Amino acid sequence: MLREEELKKGPNLYTPFLGTTTGSWRLLRPVLDRERCNNCLACWLFCPEGCFDRGEQAVTLNLDFCKGCGICVTECPRQALALVEEGSNDARLLER
Ligand code: SF4
Ligand code: SF4
Repeated sequence: MLREEELKKGPNLYTPFLGTTTGSWRLLRPVLDRERCNNCLACWLFCPEGCFDRGEQAVTLNLDFCKGCGICVTECPRQALALVEEGSNDARLLER
């Protein structure tokens, strides 16, 4: 059984993916609108790379391990995430 402190780290605790940084070759990336996020943790649950952490008001996103698959964007019920091209101006406009 998982201990409380292990559960806080996310659902992908025992996978090897957190050791593989993908930020250098990712073509698309999610951007988070913290004002829309209600901390429901759906993204935290579904991200295959464990990129999300629980926050006080909204989740936090670690892009070092994100491969740009877009699963989090699809699963977010609040449209608080959007997938944009890496380096595009859209990303800077959307981030809050
Ligand atoms: S795009 Fe994929 S890998 Fe990146 S944070 Fe979303 S679900 Fe995780
Ligand atoms: S799924 Fe959307 S609303 Fe829920 S915690 Fe993630 S970003 Fe926030």
